[in-house]
Amino acid sequence: MHFSKWGKFVYLIVIACAVPAMVRADGETQPGRDGKQPVDEAYTAKIRKYTTQPFFSSPLVDYLPASKNVPTPEVVLGDVAGAPGILPYAEDVYKYMRLLEKATPRVKVYSIGTTEEGREMIAVAVSSEANLKNLEQNHERLARLADPRTIHLDDAEADKLVAQAVPVYYITGTIHSPETGAPTALMELVYRLAVDESLYIREIRDGVITLITPVVEVDGRDRIVDIYKWHLAHPKEFYPPLIYWGKYVAHDNNRDAMAMTLKLTQNVLNTYAAWDAQVLHDLHESVPYLYDNTVGDGPYNAWVDPILVDEWQMIGSRNVADMTKFGMPGVFTHGNFDTWSPGYLMFLAAMHNGISRLYETFGNGGADTLERTLEPDEYARTWYRANPPLPKAMWSQRNNNNYEETGLLTSLHYFNENKRLFLKNFYLKSKRSIQKPAAEGPAAYVLPADDPRASIQADLLRVMLRQHVEISRASSAFQVNLPAKKEKKKPKAGGETEDKPKTPPAPTTRDFPEGSYVIRMDQPYSRVADALLDYQYWSPEDPQSTPYDDTAWTLGEMFGVQVVRVTDAKALAVPMERVRELKPVGGVQGEGTVFAIENHAEPGLATLRYRMKDATIEAAEEGFEAGGRKFGRGTFLVRGVSRGDLDTATTSLNLHAVALSAAPTVKTHPVRAPRIAYIHTWLSTQAEGWWRMALDELQIPYDYMSTQAIAQIPDLNAKYDVILFPPVGWNSNPTAIIQGLPTTWGNPLPWLNTPETPNLVGKNDSTPDMRPGLGWDGVAKLQNFVAKGGLLLTTTDTSQFAISIGLTNGVTASSSDKMKIVGAVVGTRVVDAASPITYGYDEKVSAFCDNGPIFSVNSMLGSRRRRLGPEGGARPTGRGTKDDPDFVVGRISTEAPEQPEHETWEVPSPTDEQLHNNPRVIPPASRARVILRYADEKDLLISGLVQGGRDIAQHPAVLDVPSGAGHVVLFSINPIYRGETENTYSLVLNTLLNFDSLNAGRKAAEK
Ligand SMILES: [Zn+2]
Repeated sequence: MHFSKWGKFVYLIVIACAVPAMVRADGETQPGRDGKQPVDEAYTAKIRKYTTQPFFSSPLVDYLPASKNVPTPEVVLGDVAGAPGILPYAEDVYKYMRLLEKATPRVKVYSIGTTEEGREMIAVAVSSEANLKNLEQNHERLARLADPRTIHLDDAEADKLVAQAVPVYYITGTIHSPETGAPTALMELVYRLAVDESLYIREIRDGVITLITPVVEVDGRDRIVDIYKWHLAHPKEFYPPLIYWGKYVAHDNNRDAMAMTLKLTQNVLNTYAAWDAQVLHDLHESVPYLYDNTVGDGPYNAWVDPILVDEWQMIGSRNVADMTKFGMPGVFTHGNFDTWSPGYLMFLAAMHNGISRLYETFGNGGADTLERTLEPDEYARTWYRANPPLPKAMWSQRNNNNYEETGLLTSLHYFNENKRLFLKNFYLKSKRSIQKPAAEGPAAYVLPADDPRASIQADLLRVMLRQHVEISRASSAFQVNLPAKKEKKKPKAGGETEDKPKTPPAPTTRDFPEGSYVIRMDQPYSRVADALLDYQYWSPEDPQSTPYDDTAWTLGEMFGVQVVRVTDAKALAVPMERVRELKPVGGVQGEGTVFAIENHAEPGLATLRYRMKDATIEAAEEGFEAGGRKFGRGTFLVRGVSRGDLDTATTSLNLHAVALSAAPTVKTHPVRAPRIAYIHTWLSTQAEGWWRMALDELQIPYDYMSTQAIAQIPDLNAKYDVILFPPVGWNSNPTAIIQGLPTTWGNPLPWLNTPETPNLVGKNDSTPDMRPGLGWDGVAKLQNFVAKGGLLLTTTDTSQFAISIGLTNGVTASSSDKMKIVGAVVGTRVVDAASPITYGYDEKVSAFCDNGPIFSVNSMLGSRRRRLGPEGGARPTGRGTKDDPDFVVGRISTEAPEQPEHETWEVPSPTDEQLHNNPRVIPPASRARVILRYADEKDLLISGLVQGGRDIAQHPAVLDVPSGAGHVVLFSINPIYRGETENTYSLVLNTLLNFDSLNAGRKAAEK
């Protein structure tokens, strides 16, 4: 065996440190207390008291070592970690961590940023005094392993660093606010790691830097603690459900690791990357008793390194083994979590050359001790869960803390024992990311400089920068070879396939202009760029029939900008410069007093409209030519504004304006900034939260109110032009939206700031009682608003609501048992390019779809048009060949009138028979206008899982339905979702800006 100088030295130190008496016959260090170190007897007695069964604990946590100078969590909590009735605010957790920092050189606290509501996030480092003293020097080593380009991909050099470096294991707590146990478990864990002198803990302390963010969702933590305090003060009453967690999203805060729109995601990745950590381990509570979902189930994300897959298996299996030996029931690592989507917080590590881990432990959603009864599938013994949880048990927050701490300590210990392997793997995963162009490819992704949607392109590139991906800009034009497209074999008449063409198709080339953006795949974080920009395919035959989350995310499609996957390594030889910040490029060109801004469905256009309050802005209803260039339909014509002001505004928004000497003679209508009422329910706010975030970022003002509040406004039309009703998500159906939660029993559920609940409301909404819904008065208000000329915009479940309350004549919505479109990217087609809603879009629009609903349209009330069985119109049995007319013997033949034909998405014209004395026929001007439809079945799948797509193929995806004097605009796709769908934002924004001209370009049916 060859030892480097350093390696030998380290090896000798390890030998010298080992205390033989504490090492077992199996070569493992004995877990458990050091007999020589005194125990904090009072604290230990309480740990045992609050643990409901001895087997819900372990030798690692059933005692607390005493310290003369380091305070236990009791100084802040007033009791031990996991005690009943005790949930600390983030502030208290931080206070304790900072007390530890003062008391021991083994703890350091770092501020890592703030939340949307301005609360601090922290990271706590705990390790030996020496490790924390040498942080900088150690980080230099880790940084070189993290970026092997710095050591010229030299494995021998890497081995030297691996032998010397101390790895960083990053733990994150309570991202999901109702999962409340982690903060106290982590307070105690830091104490143990700093104080415990047992060999087992010393090995961790000396060998690893444990980094901990005890509270990830700080805004939500303070709210759930408020609610818990309210519950303690009103023990016999129902307590309010946690309707808001963070400012914008609830449970989806753990689905933000792709677009990285939330501060918590950004702060955690920045910390992970700044420390060059090897592991990101995120703590959750929803499964008994400890599901280490690291291994989970397939399909695994296609872009992770197989080295990581092995690491998952190693760590997961060992974790189960260690806890099983302690006799702790219900610890397992396989289960129904698939590792496909990279949207989870912990997956930041999987996509950045680390190890992602996630625990589901068991919690009671607060600190009450409760008897918990499980479902049969939760306590069943299975092949992967040999010692399952108990069918019924008293469960305490202390039990939860025992499991979390024991799981983490055994993980840390195992990780330390094998840290050279994991550090080497960390280097290898990074190296293999850099070698991607020569291995699996591609060489690069290129975003062309001439993409007409520059502002959206910049937003997509900003996502990449948030992901710490390196972006470069080509300093000259260049050409690459694109792989030849394989011709699909066309079936011959007899079912055989045609012979291959004699000559293989020639490779095509593609030219990119100077200034095109190049995302090189020979960089350490190429993996995440590849995963986010590539396409996904989830086979309908996959053994996993219940995808855990979205099946697709292809960001180029969802942002609607060109992203070219280039396999030709020539792309890497192009002269280019690193881009560290995307400065907006725009402004006004030319001279004149009328300014034209081409419409490419960029969201910044809406911002511009609101920002330039006094400007006159009109939209061209047709394309036109002016100043020697062509402008498309929907072009903004801006007047009454100074060139300087417009230049400033367009520059900051990455928009280009052209000054014209005279206004073009094209038909126009005003583009106005509507007064928006934005409604949410008290059932769920997460799906709408993504909409709120998008509007806030675009600086589009709106009045945010609940269904209860809108029902109280006497004259909606006097106050608002548009009512925006984004999707509800969980618990939504028309009845629930109207009725809310039951009010005939139970107590009011206040969502108010009170002395007991000072943090509940934050900057969101409040109510003395969350239970009442929109109510029938509210329904009447909405109906009246639309009837009098208002515009109501709805999506997915709120579209179903609008249909079910009778606001949309001739429109039905259905679902299909056979269809499975699970968070996929689908193709849609513009049907009516003259509608202002589609201004700036090309014919093909990629959109996010999660199972519809399936809209159908008709020209009559009361009938449903459904595609059941074969299409009609086939000839019946009779004389002649298939295409011949039949005859009737003895009668002169009469030709049958032609059946009117229509496409699936079209409103069928009523027949003369149907028109006869029929009040149910909707007059042409009142029929639904089909704006966008789903693509044909064969073109529906763009990315992800589309199964049974024929049931929604060709059906309308966006409808503009005249209703009284107003309009209801219905979406079946979700146009604003998780910060990932900027391509479809402007379908909503166009609707807003053209609220009083939606009939522009409308062609009425003849009859
Ligand atoms: Zn969770």
